[in-house]
Amino acid sequence: MAKIKMTTPLVEMDGDEMTRIIWQMIKDELICPFVELNTEYYDLGLPERERTRDKVTFDSAYATQKYGVAVKCATITPNKQRVEEYNLSEMWKSPNGTIRAILDGTVFRSPIIIDSIKPVVRNWKKPITIARHAYGDVYKATEYRVPTKGTATLSFKGEDGTEFSKTIYDFECPGVLQGQYNKDSSIISFAHSCFKYAIATKQDLWFSTKDTISKQYDQTFKLIFEDIYNKEYKAKFEELGITYFYTLIDDAVARVIRSEGGYIWACKNYDGDVMSDMVSTAFGSLAMMTSVLVSPDGKFEYEAAHGTVTRHYYKHLKGEVTSTNPMATIYAWSGALRKRGELDGLADLVDFADKLEAACIKTLDDGIMTKDLVGLVDDGVKVTSVNTLEFIKAIRERLATTV
Ligand code: NAP
Ligand code: MG
Repeated sequence: MAKIKMTTPLVEMDGDEMTRIIWQMIKDELICPFVELNTEYYDLGLPERERTRDKVTFDSAYATQKYGVAVKCATITPNKQRVEEYNLSEMWKSPNGTIRAILDGTVFRSPIIIDSIKPVVRNWKKPITIARHAYGDVYKATEYRVPTKGTATLSFKGEDGTEFSKTIYDFECPGVLQGQYNKDSSIISFAHSCFKYAIATKQDLWFSTKDTISKQYDQTFKLIFEDIYNKEYKAKFEELGITYFYTLIDDAVARVIRSEGGYIWACKNYDGDVMSDMVSTAFGSLAMMTSVLVSPDGKFEYEAAHGTVTRHYYKHLKGEVTSTNPMATIYAWSGALRKRGELDGLADLVDFADKLEAACIKTLDDGIMTKDLVGLVDDGVKVTSVNTLEFIKAIRERLATTV
């Protein structure tokens, strides 16, 4: 059988620990037998980041800017313990943070859903994708404990001489104080990424803030989205039959719970942090959450939402066979290959990505699954619990009958 050809390299970012092991299995069993894989390879594993003084991470992000599509394995974000474990010369920054800063992107997370695992919210039938603005607000806030009676003011000094100052509160007792900010440029990028991703996935886009209470801050988010939508995306949305819909965050929460799913929910930074944990937990398992970073100029970086699964890796190192779920990492590959195929006009590559995902779903529908899912399936469904490689091989068997 002739392998499927690729015309443009896919940026491949390898990673750490258990997911690095799974990465190789996926390539060996599910990709390379079928596709003449053309990647530009960057090893983001911690030893190589240390060796290159993290240059490799920057290079991989620049390559993504150049080629437009990347697939990333989970990577260790060093902390004190990792600095010792890997004998690091510096506590290198989170690769995801570095890549996100360079691509100026927004992260979209959606669950992979299967028939035998019912979401906790019974009426959810389709995935709900959370788009989280990953810049500013409470994550970059300045805060104080107010120790005593006194006056707090909010002031600004412009380069051009603009000045304003307002009393926040006359404290009659101790309390707390916090200053937050965001930037128009970042909100504009967030909006473009959301509208572009809605078009790319042909889904409705919801956006929610608390603009009735936050009449300048949240209102700015609302107005920027509205303006960009009307000027640049409305026609395309109408042509595709999808809608852009703004509502208050409280109303959004109620509507989300009552909905069937099948849309993108864009959230400010804090709302997105909280809501993505709610949505992923209600859908089932972290191992089934996919994640894609979309830049405002339409570059895509696909990955799993989970980390390097350290606990399983230590077992693996002791020679134990693990039942780590590779689904989200496989979907990172299928997502990236599909996008590459779409951009390069390679129908057979797009078709392969669809078939790979279908083979994964078929395997799970046949009751073959990793341990983490076994406890989640509906009563009465017959399941076979397998290890990672057995699971991947079962997918390969099904895939081979369709390509
Ligand atoms: P994690 O790797 O997501 O794993 C946490 C736990 O969730 C695991 O111990 C496992 O539970 C379960 N789990 C996650 N993915 C699974 C899968 N595919 N199959 C089965 N079970 C799965 O989070 P962590 O242990 O907090 O972090 C480990 C490392 O990953 C850290 O160094 C962190 O910096 C890094 N990290 C990287 C990224 C990224 O690159 N995007 C994201 C998050 C964390 P059981 O042990 O109960 O089976
Ligand atoms: Mg969180």
